[in-house]
Amino acid sequence: MSDVSGAKSNQDVHVAEKCGHPGCDAWGIFGKERGRGITEWRCWEHLAADYWEGREKPPAR
Ligand SMILES: [Zn+2]
Repeated sequence: MSDVSGAKSNQDVHVAEKCGHPGCDAWGIFGKERGRGITEWRCWEHLAADYWEGREKPPAR
């Protein structure tokens, strides 16, 4: 874990979103497009079941 940096945080192009699952306060690091410009953000634990549809899963380690 070395992604913590205090440098130039005001130049981030991506605004962090929280997980959309009710009661979950984790970061929604997986965005699933739901149409009309709406993106459903979910954390790994609450990842939508259809998230991987239409895209390749990352290789398992
Ligand atoms: Zn969550």
